[in-house]
Amino acid sequence: MASFTKLVFLSALLSLGSAAPLRALRRRQTEPTPDNSTAPWSVPLTIPAQHESFGFDLGSSLNAPSYNVTPVSNIPSNCLAYNALHSECPTSFEAFDVTYDDCGDAWTVCRCNPSNMTMDTVAQRLGQVPVGLRRYVATVVVLPDNTNHAYTLTSGDIHMFGDMAENTWIHESFHAFDWASGAPVSHTTDWLNAIQSDTCVPDTYAASSAIEDFAQVGVLKISSLANNNTLPSGWSSDCMSNQLKFMDRFSLFNSASLFGPTCAIQPSDPGARHTTPPSQTQIQQGKQQGKQQGSPVTPSTSVPTAHPVGNTGVKNAALTSALLSRWRYASLGFGIAGWLLW
Ligand SMILES: [Zn+2]
Repeated sequence: MASFTKLVFLSALLSLGSAAPLRALRRRQTEPTPDNSTAPWSVPLTIPAQHESFGFDLGSSLNAPSYNVTPVSNIPSNCLAYNALHSECPTSFEAFDVTYDDCGDAWTVCRCNPSNMTMDTVAQRLGQVPVGLRRYVATVVVLPDNTNHAYTLTSGDIHMFGDMAENTWIHESFHAFDWASGAPVSHTTDWLNAIQSDTCVPDTYAASSAIEDFAQVGVLKISSLANNNTLPSGWSSDCMSNQLKFMDRFSLFNSASLFGPTCAIQPSDPGARHTTPPSQTQIQQGKQQGKQQGSPVTPSTSVPTAHPVGNTGVKNAALTSALLSRWRYASLGFGIAGWLLW
């Protein structure tokens, strides 16, 4: 058990976010809880949500750099642990190194076979996470499930269940960024004060806690930067101006480095996990692919197209139920509730 990193988040998101995750998070309070469960960054926020969910999909706004997927013969131990002990993977893992043309370091992906997402889908969606954020993501673990959900460990490992859309990839990547220094940004007084100084949070999932709000505001910031500094249609910055302003302190949101062309961003950040510059060969491959690496698809003032998948109440209820079952199972069986591993 000691070898496991700490589980810090359980992020249950439908592809575009929904009210269901909020219920899941509320439920969390009645489960065996971490020692910091009543900490101000862990409890539900009392500030209203601007919208119920994110009705946009960043998958239509971001390019992925070209990539190579190479099989890895030895499954990493941090993946195998979830095959044997935690039983997240009922079959077996296959592992791959995914190398993008914007970075000399590969991202290791462990994929339970079969899973809902193919390796191409995984490589594409991970690649669409802008390199300035993607470089904080450690190992990606891909798992099958009938419901879509995900969580991120303090190690930066992301576990994806089902078929997760781009918004969630970016949301989880923000958790990895949040924890990269070992002192979570979302726990700081400055962040909590920024929230309290505002009159809304982005959506109901953001209202789950200051931790989730940090990740959701991050998704909105990426959306804005990818669309010529314009929030999605129907969204106002006025009621959450302090949260948005808080984000401006991070060089992460410098568009020039956020969207490429390299993971070797200066000044260096010891919390970043992928920082080796791409080789000349990789750079040439990227140019031949004709893609501006990790860049917005079409910087413009156009409104991102709404994702056609609806979040129905039935789906939400099913998701919540499944999550609660999973949570009970995890808590009782294996202590996957990372709080126990804290
Ligand atoms: Zn989350």
